[in-house]
Amino acid sequence: MRKVSIFGATGSVGAQTVDLIRRAGGAGAYQVVALTGGRNIALLAEMARELRAGVAVCSDPADLAALRDLLAGSDVEAQAGVQAIAEAADRPADWVMSAIVGAAGLVPGLRALRHGTTLALANKESLVTAGPLLMATASAHGAHILPVDSEHSAIFQALVGEDIAAVERIILTASGGALRDWPLEALANASVTDALAHPNWAMGQRITIDSASMFNKALEVIETREYFGVLPDQIEVIIHPESLIHSMVGYRDGAIMAHLGAPDMRHAIGYALNWPSRQALPVARLDLAQVATLTFRAPDLQRYPALRLAREVIARRGLSGAAFNAAKEVALDHFLAGHIGFMAMAGVVEATLTAVDGDIGPEIGGLALEDVAAMDHLARIRAGEIARRAAGAD
Ligand code: NAD
Ligand code: MG
Repeated sequence: MRKVSIFGATGSVGAQTVDLIRRAGGAGAYQVVALTGGRNIALLAEMARELRAGVAVCSDPADLAALRDLLAGSDVEAQAGVQAIAEAADRPADWVMSAIVGAAGLVPGLRALRHGTTLALANKESLVTAGPLLMATASAHGAHILPVDSEHSAIFQALVGEDIAAVERIILTASGGALRDWPLEALANASVTDALAHPNWAMGQRITIDSASMFNKALEVIETREYFGVLPDQIEVIIHPESLIHSMVGYRDGAIMAHLGAPDMRHAIGYALNWPSRQALPVARLDLAQVATLTFRAPDLQRYPALRLAREVIARRGLSGAAFNAAKEVALDHFLAGHIGFMAMAGVVEATLTAVDGDIGPEIGGLALEDVAAMDHLARIRAGEIARRAAGAD
């Protein structure tokens, strides 16, 4: 039986992964090695009991006693804490879903790769912060990384059987998020609730806000560079409000291969789960006559400064991805807490990149985890200082 683990099982991507595993026969079809979650231990315990997981790990040690109670009478082991989550990745598995949100997803993913495990990677932050390290670890241990971002899964699928050298351009589609039709001058006053009203995709809170600011697309531009090794000038972003084309690959003969489907993450999750084969998935089928029109528009860089910053990060490489991601996470925390405005997030990230510039270092082959962690730490401190100053000035 195939052994699988899900990191961040209780989140949006994690729960959809559990859903696909359940539909494919659950504990009768897969041996679920480990499930991890954050504070929602009731859901974690319910999933672990149903899938007869070997171990359930919650992130906060304060929840351990309660998790043990919830699992009493089952064969599921209960554990807690950052270290326990990392150790869960050492348990032998054939396939691991990395769906923790934020930089916390990096270490478990790396640990799984060191065992040669196939890593389904939803946690884009780990590629942005430590792309060269992840890719080098995968290749050193003969492990596969399968993208579980809808765009990168689309690109990956459009590349099947093709030569990467024949790729001329990669076109990332973006919905434009909740605020895409707002006047530019109104954006500064957009609230958390406004930014959470995503038109097409139902996702976790943080990525939904990142969609409205296009920090999500900025991460994805960097992610594209790390996954596919293309040059920055080969990566384009286009707003496609219907979110039916998940991304495209343009080849040197002018042909463009596009991946279309309903805006449902189970496309990307299911492709990674069943790869290299394709299995039936419970996703809506597109009725193109009903859809009738697909529309596109160029992104306005004034509205989306994050896209410009992503290009700077790609040009700079080294530890700038780690700094960018950490600063973005801190800026988002301050926006969620109501300390800074929507458009101020990009200002915080840009000022942080400038503040840590001397510590970014030149491009190096395979970043060390300690350097990434140190930059993550430094950028969080600087971004916090900058955000507090910005909050005071508001
Ligand atoms: P989410 O917030 O819904 O879930 C995150 C999961 O991680 C939860 O299980 C949560 O408990 C856990 N978690 C949070 N902080 C943690 C920590 N410090 N330590 C351990 N566990 C922690 O997030 P999501 O929307 O499912 O996104 C997960 C990842 O997938 C992100 O990297 C996101 O960018 C990426 N992604 C999500 C979608 C989507 O549709 N939701 C699409 C593409 C990519
Ligand atoms: Mg995406």
